Amino acid sequence: MLPNPKYDLLVPTRRRLLQHGAAVVAGLALPIPGWGGDFWSQPRELWLIRGRESVKAVYWADGKLIPEGYVALCRVLRDVQLNLAVQIDPVTLDILRGVYGWLRYFGIDRPITVLSGYRHPYTNARTERAALNSLHMLGQAADIRIPGVAASRIAQLGKYLSAGGVGYYPADGFTHLDRGKLRAWTG
Ligand SMILES: [Zn+2]
Repeated sequence: MLPNPKYDLLVPTRRRLLQHGAAVVAGLALPIPGWGGDFWSQPRELWLIRGRESVKAVYWADGKLIPEGYVALCRVLRDVQLNLAVQIDPVTLDILRGVYGWLRYFGIDRPITVLSGYRHPYTNARTERAALNSLHMLGQAADIRIPGVAASRIAQLGKYLSAGGVGYYPADGFTHLDRGKLRAWTG
C-alpha cells in the first residue's frame, strides 16, 4: 500500500503552461507534491511493464530526448494488436514520469503497468468503450495501473499534475491519463 501522503493531492489544480509543441517540453514543470524545483531538470526515467516486457529507461536528459530510451518506451506503448509503434507524445511521457517520480519520492520504486498506449484507428474502433476521437490514436494517452496503488490515487495525482485528461475506471481498476484538454471523468 501507498504510505500516507504527506501532501494533500486534492489541492485545486493549477494549469501550467502546458500548451502543445515539443519546444515547451524542455521547460515543463508539472507540479510534484512536496518536491523541490529540480525534479524536471533531472534525467527523466520511466519504468514501464506490459506482459513480460519491462523497460526502465531515461527518455529525456540535459534538455533533449534520449533516442534509445525514448524509442524503447515508445515500443512498450505500441499498439499491440497491430504490433505498431509510433512516437509517443513526450508530454504524455512526462505525465507518466510525474506519477512514477511521485511514487519514488515516497520510496516506492514500482513499474507502471501499461494496459493501452498508442492505438491505431483500426484498433481503437475495436476497443470497447473507446472514444471515437480518442487521444490514444495520437499517441497522447495511456491507460495504466500500478499494483498496490489505488487507481483513485493515480487519478488524484493526474489531476494534480494538471496536464490533461484524467479518466478513473474503478470497476476495471485503471486510470486513463492524456495530455489533452483539462478534464476528468469516471468510467
Ligand atoms: Zn484510455
